[in-house]
Amino acid sequence: MSLFTEPKAFTYYNINDLKDIVGFLEKTIEKNEGKKYQSLKKYDIERIIKVVKRESQKLIDKEAELIDAKLKYEKGKKIAKAHSERMELFSVLWENLVKHFPEDYKPTGGLTGSWIRQFIEFPLAQSKDFEDPGYGNAIGHDLDIVMYTNLYPSDKEYVSTYFNKAMKKFQDHVSFSILNPELCKPITITNKSLIQVIDVTILAKDIKESDPIGKKALIDIPHSIFKFKDNNDNSIIEIDVIAFKPESAEGWTNIDFNVNGLMMSDRGIEYCGDIRSGFLATINSIINKEPICLINFESIVENATKPGMLRTEKVPYFMQIAWMLRNRYKICSVGYKNIVSFDKLINHSINTEDDCPITGCKAPYYEIKLNCSHKISLMAYIGIMEESKFDSSQAIKCPLCRADFSLELIEKKPTPINIFELKTLSEIFHNKFNDCKLEEKEEEKLTSEDAESFVLEIINKKPSITLPANNILDVSDILPTNTTFGRGRSRWDNS
Ligand SMILES: [Zn+2]
Repeated sequence: MSLFTEPKAFTYYNINDLKDIVGFLEKTIEKNEGKKYQSLKKYDIERIIKVVKRESQKLIDKEAELIDAKLKYEKGKKIAKAHSERMELFSVLWENLVKHFPEDYKPTGGLTGSWIRQFIEFPLAQSKDFEDPGYGNAIGHDLDIVMYTNLYPSDKEYVSTYFNKAMKKFQDHVSFSILNPELCKPITITNKSLIQVIDVTILAKDIKESDPIGKKALIDIPHSIFKFKDNNDNSIIEIDVIAFKPESAEGWTNIDFNVNGLMMSDRGIEYCGDIRSGFLATINSIINKEPICLINFESIVENATKPGMLRTEKVPYFMQIAWMLRNRYKICSVGYKNIVSFDKLINHSINTEDDCPITGCKAPYYEIKLNCSHKISLMAYIGIMEESKFDSSQAIKCPLCRADFSLELIEKKPTPINIFELKTLSEIFHNKFNDCKLEEKEEEKLTSEDAESFVLEIINKKPSITLPANNILDVSDILPTNTTFGRGRSRWDNS
Protein backbone atom coordinates (compact mmCIF):
# COMPACT_ATOMS: atom_id res chain seq x y z
CA MET A 1 0.00 0.00 0.00
CA SER A 2 1.57 3.30 -0.95
CA LEU A 3 1.51 6.06 1.66
CA PHE A 4 -1.63 7.60 0.38
CA THR A 5 -3.61 4.73 -1.01
CA GLU A 6 -7.10 4.82 0.39
CA PRO A 7 -7.69 1.73 2.60
CA LYS A 8 -10.06 -0.63 0.76
CA ALA A 9 -13.46 -1.41 2.27
CA PHE A 10 -13.58 -4.91 3.77
CA THR A 11 -15.55 -7.63 2.05
CA TYR A 12 -16.53 -9.87 4.97
CA TYR A 13 -20.08 -10.50 6.15
CA ASN A 14 -21.91 -7.56 7.45
CA ILE A 15 -21.72 -7.40 11.26
CA ASN A 16 -25.47 -6.75 11.49
CA ASP A 17 -26.16 -9.94 9.51
CA LEU A 18 -24.06 -11.90 11.98
CA LYS A 19 -25.90 -10.29 14.89
CA ASP A 20 -29.19 -11.34 13.29
CA ILE A 21 -27.96 -14.93 13.01
CA VAL A 22 -26.97 -14.96 16.69
CA GLY A 23 -30.37 -13.49 17.65
CA PHE A 24 -32.21 -16.07 15.54
CA LEU A 25 -30.27 -18.96 17.08
CA GLU A 26 -30.80 -17.64 20.61
CA LYS A 27 -34.54 -17.38 19.97
CA THR A 28 -34.57 -20.94 18.59
CA ILE A 29 -33.01 -22.20 21.83
CA GLU A 30 -35.52 -20.23 23.91
CA LYS A 31 -38.50 -21.50 21.91
CA ASN A 32 -37.38 -25.08 22.03
CA GLU A 33 -36.33 -25.06 25.68
CA GLY A 34 -37.49 -28.34 27.26
CA LYS A 35 -38.43 -29.83 23.86
CA LYS A 36 -36.58 -32.61 22.21
CA TYR A 37 -34.39 -31.42 19.35
CA GLN A 38 -34.53 -33.25 16.12
CA SER A 39 -31.70 -32.26 13.83
CA LEU A 40 -29.81 -29.67 15.91
CA LYS A 41 -28.97 -30.29 19.54
CA LYS A 42 -28.88 -27.39 22.02
CA TYR A 43 -25.16 -28.05 22.43
CA ASP A 44 -24.54 -27.55 18.70
CA ILE A 45 -26.51 -24.33 18.57
CA GLU A 46 -24.56 -22.95 21.51
CA ARG A 47 -21.33 -23.82 19.74
CA ILE A 48 -22.49 -22.02 16.59
CA ILE A 49 -23.38 -18.97 18.66
CA LYS A 50 -19.93 -19.01 20.25
CA VAL A 51 -18.20 -19.18 16.87
CA VAL A 52 -20.39 -16.48 15.31
CA LYS A 53 -19.82 -14.19 18.33
CA ARG A 54 -16.07 -14.72 18.17
CA GLU A 55 -15.98 -14.06 14.42
CA SER A 56 -18.15 -10.97 14.68
CA GLN A 57 -15.82 -9.59 17.39
CA LYS A 58 -12.94 -10.06 14.96
CA LEU A 59 -14.91 -8.10 12.38
CA ILE A 60 -15.63 -5.33 14.86
CA ASP A 61 -11.89 -5.08 15.64
CA LYS A 62 -11.06 -5.12 11.95
CA GLU A 63 -13.60 -2.40 11.31
CA ALA A 64 -12.12 -0.25 14.08
CA GLU A 65 -8.68 -0.75 12.53
CA LEU A 66 -9.99 0.28 9.11
CA ILE A 67 -11.74 3.33 10.51
CA ASP A 68 -8.45 4.30 12.13
CA ALA A 69 -6.54 3.75 8.86
CA LYS A 70 -9.17 5.72 6.97
CA LEU A 71 -8.93 8.64 9.42
CA LYS A 72 -5.14 8.64 9.12
CA TYR A 73 -5.44 8.56 5.35
CA GLU A 74 -7.88 11.50 5.37
CA LYS A 75 -5.59 13.42 7.73
CA GLY A 76 -2.53 12.64 5.57
CA LYS A 77 -4.38 13.84 2.47
CA LYS A 78 -5.32 17.15 4.13
CA ILE A 79 -1.79 17.72 5.39
CA ALA A 80 -0.33 16.90 1.96
CA LYS A 81 -2.70 19.51 0.50
CA ALA A 82 -1.59 22.09 3.11
CA HIS A 83 2.05 21.44 2.15
CA SER A 84 1.49 21.73 -1.58
CA GLU A 85 -0.57 24.90 -1.13
CA ARG A 86 2.25 26.49 0.85
CA MET A 87 4.80 25.46 -1.75
CA GLU A 88 2.69 27.06 -4.49
CA LEU A 89 1.97 30.20 -2.43
CA PHE A 90 5.70 30.65 -1.92
CA SER A 91 6.77 30.06 -5.50
CA VAL A 92 4.12 32.33 -7.04
CA LEU A 93 4.61 35.07 -4.44
CA TRP A 94 8.41 34.88 -4.73
CA GLU A 95 8.33 35.29 -8.51
CA ASN A 96 6.06 38.28 -8.13
CA LEU A 97 8.22 39.87 -5.45
CA VAL A 98 11.40 39.40 -7.45
CA LYS A 99 9.81 41.16 -10.46
CA HIS A 100 10.09 44.45 -8.60
CA PHE A 101 13.89 44.26 -8.28
CA PRO A 102 16.30 45.28 -11.06
CA GLU A 103 17.30 42.50 -13.47
CA ASP A 104 20.95 42.56 -12.35
CA TYR A 105 20.15 42.63 -8.65
CA LYS A 106 17.83 39.71 -7.96
CA PRO A 107 17.20 38.63 -4.36
CA THR A 108 19.10 35.58 -3.10
CA GLY A 109 16.93 34.35 -0.21
CA GLY A 110 13.82 32.24 -0.03
CA LEU A 111 11.47 30.43 2.28
CA THR A 112 12.89 29.66 5.69
CA GLY A 113 11.92 28.68 9.23
CA SER A 114 9.82 25.93 10.67
CA TRP A 115 7.71 25.12 7.59
CA ILE A 116 10.72 23.63 5.74
CA ARG A 117 11.33 21.47 8.81
CA GLN A 118 7.74 20.27 8.65
CA PHE A 119 8.10 19.56 4.95
CA ILE A 120 11.00 17.17 5.76
CA GLU A 121 9.05 15.72 8.71
CA PHE A 122 5.96 14.95 6.66
CA PRO A 123 6.99 11.55 5.18
CA LEU A 124 8.40 10.51 8.57
CA ALA A 125 5.12 11.46 10.24
CA GLN A 126 3.40 8.62 8.35
CA SER A 127 5.22 6.14 10.58
CA LYS A 128 4.00 5.23 14.07
CA ASP A 129 7.20 6.40 15.78
CA PHE A 130 6.63 9.99 14.68
CA GLU A 131 3.10 10.56 15.84
CA ASP A 132 3.78 13.64 17.99
CA PRO A 133 1.03 16.18 17.46
CA GLY A 134 2.14 18.80 14.99
CA TYR A 135 5.07 16.77 13.62
CA GLY A 136 4.92 17.26 9.84
CA ASN A 137 1.51 18.94 10.08
CA ALA A 138 1.46 22.19 8.11
CA ILE A 139 -2.24 22.94 8.68
CA GLY A 140 -2.59 26.43 10.14
CA HIS A 141 1.14 27.02 9.75
CA ASP A 142 2.40 30.39 8.52
CA LEU A 143 5.39 30.99 6.22
CA ASP A 144 8.56 33.06 6.56
CA ILE A 145 10.42 34.59 3.64
CA VAL A 146 13.81 36.29 3.86
CA MET A 147 14.66 38.14 0.63
CA TYR A 148 18.42 38.59 1.04
CA THR A 149 20.59 36.34 3.17
CA ASN A 150 23.88 38.22 2.69
CA LEU A 151 24.29 41.90 2.02
CA TYR A 152 27.00 44.53 2.24
CA PRO A 153 25.95 47.21 4.72
CA SER A 154 26.04 49.75 1.88
CA ASP A 155 23.47 47.70 -0.06
CA LYS A 156 20.86 47.76 2.67
CA GLU A 157 19.44 51.13 1.73
CA TYR A 158 19.28 50.16 -1.94
CA VAL A 159 17.47 46.89 -1.17
CA SER A 160 15.12 48.63 1.27
CA THR A 161 14.07 51.07 -1.45
CA TYR A 162 13.14 48.28 -3.89
CA PHE A 163 11.51 46.20 -1.17
CA ASN A 164 9.33 49.12 -0.05
CA LYS A 165 8.39 49.92 -3.67
CA ALA A 166 7.30 46.30 -4.17
CA MET A 167 5.25 46.32 -0.96
CA LYS A 168 3.58 49.58 -1.97
CA LYS A 169 2.49 47.99 -5.27
CA PHE A 170 0.99 44.99 -3.46
CA GLN A 171 -0.77 47.26 -0.96
CA ASP A 172 -2.18 49.43 -3.75
CA HIS A 173 -3.44 46.36 -5.57
CA VAL A 174 -5.20 45.07 -2.45
CA SER A 175 -6.83 48.45 -1.69
CA PHE A 176 -7.93 48.89 -5.30
CA SER A 177 -9.36 45.37 -5.52
CA ILE A 178 -11.42 46.01 -2.37
CA LEU A 179 -12.75 49.35 -3.67
CA ASN A 180 -13.36 48.21 -7.26
CA PRO A 181 -13.80 44.43 -7.26
CA GLU A 182 -15.31 44.69 -10.77
CA LEU A 183 -12.24 46.34 -12.25
CA CYS A 184 -9.48 44.71 -10.23
CA LYS A 185 -9.47 41.11 -9.14
CA PRO A 186 -7.69 40.21 -5.90
CA ILE A 187 -4.39 38.33 -6.22
CA THR A 188 -5.43 34.70 -5.78
CA ILE A 189 -3.06 31.74 -5.40
CA THR A 190 -4.38 28.19 -4.77
CA ASN A 191 -7.84 29.52 -3.96
CA LYS A 192 -6.42 31.92 -1.38
CA SER A 193 -6.86 35.66 -1.93
CA LEU A 194 -4.49 38.34 -0.75
CA ILE A 195 -6.58 40.51 1.59
CA GLN A 196 -3.96 42.59 3.36
CA VAL A 197 -0.29 43.62 3.23
CA ILE A 198 0.74 45.11 6.56
CA ASP A 199 4.01 46.95 7.14
CA VAL A 200 5.37 45.69 10.48
CA THR A 201 8.85 47.22 10.22
CA ILE A 202 10.24 47.96 13.67
CA LEU A 203 11.47 51.54 13.97
CA ALA A 204 13.91 52.76 16.62
CA LYS A 205 11.14 54.80 18.23
CA ASP A 206 9.05 51.64 18.79
CA ILE A 207 11.75 50.01 20.91
CA LYS A 208 11.83 50.08 24.70
CA GLU A 209 15.14 49.79 26.47
CA SER A 210 14.05 46.56 28.15
CA ASP A 211 13.12 44.89 24.81
CA PRO A 212 15.08 41.71 24.00
CA ILE A 213 18.27 42.10 21.94
CA GLY A 214 16.77 39.96 19.15
CA LYS A 215 13.96 42.51 18.67
CA LYS A 216 16.49 45.35 18.63
CA ALA A 217 18.37 43.59 15.80
CA LEU A 218 15.25 44.04 13.61
CA ILE A 219 15.23 47.86 13.76
CA ASP A 220 14.80 49.44 10.30
CA ILE A 221 14.71 46.14 8.39
CA PRO A 222 11.73 46.44 6.00
CA HIS A 223 9.25 43.80 7.05
CA SER A 224 5.70 43.03 5.84
CA ILE A 225 3.01 40.47 6.53
CA PHE A 226 0.93 39.15 3.62
CA LYS A 227 -2.47 37.84 4.69
CA PHE A 228 -4.12 35.31 2.41
CA LYS A 229 -7.71 34.23 3.06
CA ASP A 230 -8.91 30.81 1.94
CA ASN A 231 -11.97 31.23 -0.28
CA ASN A 232 -13.47 27.95 0.97
CA ASP A 233 -13.06 27.94 4.73
CA ASN A 234 -12.02 31.59 5.38
CA SER A 235 -8.87 30.41 7.19
CA ILE A 236 -5.91 32.80 7.06
CA ILE A 237 -2.31 32.09 6.11
CA GLU A 238 0.18 34.77 7.04
CA ILE A 239 3.39 35.12 5.06
CA ASP A 240 6.08 37.03 6.83
CA VAL A 241 8.41 38.77 4.36
CA ILE A 242 11.57 40.45 5.57
CA ALA A 243 13.94 42.35 3.26
CA PHE A 244 17.17 40.95 4.70
CA LYS A 245 18.54 38.82 7.49
CA PRO A 246 19.23 40.72 10.73
CA GLU A 247 22.82 40.90 11.98
CA SER A 248 23.72 38.45 14.73
CA ALA A 249 23.93 40.22 18.09
CA GLU A 250 26.13 39.08 20.98
CA GLY A 251 25.30 35.39 21.52
CA TRP A 252 22.14 35.80 19.51
CA THR A 253 21.95 34.25 16.04
CA ASN A 254 18.78 34.77 14.06
CA ILE A 255 18.25 31.00 13.73
CA ASP A 256 17.16 29.44 17.02
CA PHE A 257 17.48 25.70 16.28
CA ASN A 258 19.33 23.96 13.46
CA VAL A 259 16.07 22.18 12.49
CA ASN A 260 14.58 25.61 11.69
CA GLY A 261 17.67 26.68 9.74
CA LEU A 262 16.77 25.15 6.37
CA MET A 263 15.98 27.43 3.44
CA MET A 264 14.10 26.68 0.24
CA SER A 265 15.39 28.88 -2.56
CA ASP A 266 15.83 28.80 -6.33
CA ARG A 267 18.76 26.49 -5.66
CA GLY A 268 16.80 23.95 -3.62
CA ILE A 269 16.77 23.24 0.10
CA GLU A 270 19.93 24.20 1.93
CA TYR A 271 21.07 24.69 5.50
CA CYS A 272 21.90 28.26 6.46
CA GLY A 273 22.44 28.23 10.22
CA ASP A 274 25.46 27.95 12.51
CA ILE A 275 28.31 26.20 10.66
CA ARG A 276 28.79 23.72 13.51
CA SER A 277 25.67 22.00 12.16
CA GLY A 278 24.97 21.27 8.48
CA PHE A 279 22.34 19.90 6.12
CA LEU A 280 22.85 16.22 6.98
CA ALA A 281 23.27 16.90 10.71
CA THR A 282 19.99 18.82 10.54
CA ILE A 283 18.18 15.95 8.80
CA ASN A 284 19.59 13.72 11.54
CA SER A 285 18.26 16.08 14.22
CA ILE A 286 14.82 15.88 12.59
CA ILE A 287 14.89 12.07 12.49
CA ASN A 288 16.12 11.77 16.07
CA LYS A 289 13.94 14.66 17.32
CA GLU A 290 17.04 16.20 18.86
CA PRO A 291 17.16 19.90 17.88
CA ILE A 292 20.47 21.71 18.32
CA CYS A 293 19.91 25.09 19.96
CA LEU A 294 22.14 27.65 18.19
CA ILE A 295 21.67 30.42 20.74
CA ASN A 296 24.73 30.88 22.91
CA PHE A 297 23.16 31.30 26.34
CA GLU A 298 26.56 31.33 27.99
CA SER A 299 27.53 34.47 26.13
CA ILE A 300 24.12 36.10 26.81
CA VAL A 301 24.41 35.33 30.53
CA GLU A 302 27.98 36.65 30.51
CA ASN A 303 26.77 39.88 28.90
CA ALA A 304 23.94 40.12 31.42
CA THR A 305 26.19 39.80 34.44
CA LYS A 306 29.20 41.95 33.52
CA PRO A 307 30.45 43.77 36.62
CA GLY A 308 29.61 47.45 36.79
CA MET A 309 26.59 47.18 34.46
CA LEU A 310 23.38 48.94 35.41
CA ARG A 311 20.19 46.95 35.81
CA THR A 312 18.74 48.73 32.79
CA GLU A 313 21.63 47.45 30.68
CA LYS A 314 21.32 43.88 31.98
CA VAL A 315 17.57 43.54 31.50
CA PRO A 316 17.53 43.22 27.64
CA TYR A 317 19.85 40.20 27.90
CA PHE A 318 17.72 38.56 30.58
CA MET A 319 14.61 39.36 28.53
CA GLN A 320 16.17 37.70 25.50
CA ILE A 321 16.36 34.46 27.49
CA ALA A 322 12.73 34.82 28.64
CA TRP A 323 11.66 35.51 25.04
CA MET A 324 13.51 32.41 23.84
CA LEU A 325 11.86 30.17 26.44
CA ARG A 326 8.42 31.64 25.89
CA ASN A 327 8.38 31.80 22.10
CA ARG A 328 10.99 29.41 20.79
CA TYR A 329 10.96 26.47 23.16
CA LYS A 330 7.48 25.70 21.77
CA ILE A 331 9.40 23.33 19.49
CA CYS A 332 9.12 20.89 22.47
CA SER A 333 5.36 20.72 21.86
CA VAL A 334 5.85 19.17 18.38
CA GLY A 335 8.06 16.32 19.59
CA TYR A 336 11.47 18.00 19.92
CA LYS A 337 11.79 17.63 23.69
CA ASN A 338 15.45 16.68 23.77
CA ILE A 339 17.08 20.09 23.15
CA VAL A 340 20.89 19.95 22.91
CA SER A 341 23.61 22.53 22.23
CA PHE A 342 27.29 22.96 21.33
CA ASP A 343 27.32 25.66 24.02
CA LYS A 344 25.58 25.62 27.38
CA LEU A 345 21.82 25.69 27.92
CA ILE A 346 19.67 27.41 30.52
CA ASN A 347 18.71 24.88 33.21
CA HIS A 348 14.95 24.90 32.89
CA SER A 349 12.10 22.48 33.48
CA ILE A 350 8.33 22.46 33.39
CA ASN A 351 6.59 22.47 36.77
CA THR A 352 3.42 20.45 36.33
CA GLU A 353 2.31 20.32 39.98
CA ASP A 354 2.62 23.41 42.16
CA ASP A 355 1.17 26.89 41.77
CA CYS A 356 3.91 29.53 41.41
CA PRO A 357 4.60 30.79 44.97
CA ILE A 358 5.47 34.29 43.71
CA THR A 359 2.79 35.03 41.09
CA GLY A 360 0.13 32.48 42.16
CA CYS A 361 -0.19 31.22 38.55
CA LYS A 362 -1.39 27.63 38.10
CA ALA A 363 0.84 24.80 36.81
CA PRO A 364 2.15 23.86 34.30
CA TYR A 365 4.70 26.60 33.60
CA TYR A 366 8.42 27.01 32.77
CA GLU A 367 10.76 27.13 35.72
CA ILE A 368 14.34 28.44 35.60
CA LYS A 369 17.05 27.32 38.01
CA LEU A 370 19.29 29.97 39.55
CA ASN A 371 22.84 29.45 40.82
CA CYS A 372 21.60 29.98 44.40
CA SER A 373 19.71 26.70 43.70
CA HIS A 374 16.26 28.33 43.80
CA LYS A 375 13.86 27.76 40.93
CA ILE A 376 11.65 30.61 39.78
CA SER A 377 8.79 30.57 37.30
CA LEU A 378 9.15 32.30 33.94
CA MET A 379 6.31 34.64 35.01
CA ALA A 380 8.17 35.68 38.18
CA TYR A 381 11.37 36.05 36.11
CA ILE A 382 9.69 38.44 33.65
CA GLY A 383 8.09 40.27 36.60
CA ILE A 384 11.50 40.87 38.19
CA MET A 385 12.92 42.16 34.89
CA GLU A 386 9.98 44.50 34.21
CA GLU A 387 10.30 45.82 37.76
CA SER A 388 14.00 46.44 37.22
CA LYS A 389 13.77 48.38 34.03
CA PHE A 390 13.63 51.85 35.57
CA ASP A 391 16.04 51.02 38.38
CA SER A 392 19.48 52.46 37.85
CA SER A 393 21.16 50.46 40.64
CA GLN A 394 23.31 47.50 39.67
CA ALA A 395 21.86 44.53 41.50
CA ILE A 396 19.15 42.09 40.49
CA LYS A 397 18.44 39.68 43.36
CA CYS A 398 16.83 36.26 43.79
CA PRO A 399 13.37 37.01 45.23
CA LEU A 400 13.65 34.03 47.59
CA CYS A 401 17.11 34.45 49.17
CA ARG A 402 18.32 37.89 47.96
CA ALA A 403 21.47 36.33 46.46
CA ASP A 404 22.73 37.85 43.17
CA PHE A 405 20.46 36.84 40.32
CA SER A 406 22.42 34.42 38.13
CA LEU A 407 21.19 31.62 35.90
CA GLU A 408 22.45 28.07 36.13
CA LEU A 409 23.83 26.73 32.84
CA ILE A 410 24.01 23.07 31.90
CA GLU A 411 25.76 21.08 29.20
CA LYS A 412 23.81 18.82 26.86
CA LYS A 413 25.88 18.09 23.78
CA PRO A 414 24.41 16.66 20.55
CA THR A 415 24.63 12.87 20.34
CA PRO A 416 27.70 12.17 18.17
CA ILE A 417 27.24 9.90 15.16
CA ASN A 418 29.60 6.96 15.39
CA ILE A 419 30.41 5.87 11.85
CA PHE A 420 30.99 2.32 13.06
CA GLU A 421 27.40 2.28 14.24
CA LEU A 422 25.90 3.70 11.07
CA LYS A 423 23.81 0.55 10.90
CA THR A 424 21.71 1.97 13.71
CA LEU A 425 20.82 4.90 11.50
CA SER A 426 19.64 2.60 8.72
CA GLU A 427 17.80 0.58 11.35
CA ILE A 428 16.00 3.72 12.40
CA PHE A 429 14.77 4.12 8.84
CA HIS A 430 14.01 0.46 8.39
CA ASN A 431 12.03 -0.03 11.59
CA LYS A 432 10.23 3.24 11.38
CA PHE A 433 8.91 2.50 7.94
CA ASN A 434 8.03 -1.13 8.52
CA ASP A 435 4.40 -0.33 9.09
CA CYS A 436 4.04 1.49 5.78
CA LYS A 437 3.97 -1.67 3.61
CA LEU A 438 5.03 -0.02 0.37
CA GLU A 439 4.10 -1.72 -2.86
CA GLU A 440 6.52 -2.13 -5.71
CA LYS A 441 7.43 1.09 -7.42
CA GLU A 442 4.89 2.36 -9.85
CA GLU A 443 5.87 3.96 -13.11
CA GLU A 444 4.57 4.27 -16.61
CA LYS A 445 6.15 1.91 -19.16
CA LEU A 446 7.19 4.05 -22.13
CA THR A 447 8.72 1.40 -24.41
CA SER A 448 7.69 -2.18 -25.21
CA GLU A 449 9.37 -5.27 -23.76
CA ASP A 450 10.37 -6.09 -27.33
CA ALA A 451 12.11 -2.78 -27.84
CA GLU A 452 13.87 -3.10 -24.46
CA SER A 453 15.18 -6.61 -25.03
CA PHE A 454 16.29 -5.83 -28.59
CA VAL A 455 18.50 -3.00 -27.31
CA LEU A 456 19.75 -5.04 -24.34
CA GLU A 457 20.75 -7.90 -26.61
CA ILE A 458 22.92 -5.64 -28.73
CA ILE A 459 24.49 -3.90 -25.73
CA ASN A 460 25.24 -7.12 -23.87
CA LYS A 461 26.64 -8.95 -26.90
CA LYS A 462 30.25 -10.04 -26.10
CA PRO A 463 32.84 -8.74 -28.59
CA SER A 464 33.92 -11.71 -30.70
CA ILE A 465 37.60 -12.58 -30.78
CA THR A 466 38.78 -13.81 -34.11
CA LEU A 467 40.88 -16.85 -33.44
CA PRO A 468 43.58 -18.13 -35.79
CA ALA A 469 42.43 -20.86 -38.08
CA ASN A 470 44.02 -23.63 -36.03
CA ASN A 471 42.24 -22.28 -32.91
CA ILE A 472 45.50 -22.22 -30.96
CA LEU A 473 46.69 -18.85 -29.79
CA ASP A 474 50.35 -18.22 -30.38
CA VAL A 475 52.08 -16.55 -27.40
CA SER A 476 53.36 -13.92 -29.80
CA ASP A 477 49.75 -12.81 -30.36
CA ILE A 478 49.56 -11.75 -26.75
CA LEU A 479 53.10 -10.73 -25.74
CA PRO A 480 55.28 -8.22 -27.57
CA THR A 481 57.62 -10.24 -29.73
CA ASN A 482 60.98 -8.82 -28.69
CA THR A 483 60.60 -9.06 -24.92
CA THR A 484 62.13 -11.67 -22.70
CA PHE A 485 61.65 -12.19 -19.01
CA GLY A 486 64.27 -12.34 -16.32
CA ARG A 487 67.57 -10.70 -17.21
CA GLY A 488 66.28 -9.46 -20.48
CA ARG A 489 64.09 -6.99 -18.61
CA SER A 490 67.14 -4.82 -17.93
CA ARG A 491 66.63 -3.43 -21.42
CA TRP A 492 63.62 -1.51 -20.13
CA ASP A 493 65.41 -0.08 -17.10
CA ASN A 494 67.39 2.61 -18.97
CA SER A 495 70.30 1.65 -16.73
ZN1 LIG B 1 17.82 32.14 45.77
